[in-house]
Amino acid sequence: MSPATPDELKSAIRNIPDFPQPGIQFKDITPLLANPRCFAGSIDQLTGSHRPGTIDVVAGIDARGFLFASAVALRLEAGIVPVRKKGKLPYRTIEESYSLEYGANTLCMHVDAIQPGQRVLLVDDVLATGGTAAATASLIERLGGQLVEVAFLIELSFLGGRAKLGRHPVRSVVTY
Ligand code: AMP
Repeated sequence: MSPATPDELKSAIRNIPDFPQPGIQFKDITPLLANPRCFAGSIDQLTGSHRPGTIDVVAGIDARGFLFASAVALRLEAGIVPVRKKGKLPYRTIEESYSLEYGANTLCMHVDAIQPGQRVLLVDDVLATGGTAAATASLIERLGGQLVEVAFLIELSFLGGRAKLGRHPVRSVVTY
């Protein structure tokens, strides 16, 4: 089975107008996830040029980010750290609040999720306004992690989210 190319991945992403509210073009990745070639291709692309031994943990963002981050972590022989919405993690947490394309949110990590100096790859499905990823980058750095790269399946470049990630290297597979 040959993994799908970025162009094929783009074709597998479904656009849902006005979801979850008017004016939002929701990028529905479920057709891509359901297709084995597309799922494999998206994990290949998100892993990029990273190799086992170069990343200690992959951080995935609640909830669609988990689907990609865990598979990337397996490829890289790295651990997986869940970044979760407030109230979901059972142990002591640190948190960051931010605004997003629709609404507001608070994200949390366990205080011991990352050890100082660990090399972290952050993975999520969509870069929109960048608030979610910027808040997560801040959590990772507060724990002493070294954020190596932020990798997205989809970048909505017209929203300018990349700027919020400042000095961090950002890579995206499919751009709109
Ligand atoms: P943002 O903080 O604005 O960059 O939003 C990113 C987060 O919201 C990601 O975790 C996405 O899952 C979700 N998201 C934002 N906008 C969209 C969109 N148009 N389609 C699908 N997911 C989105």
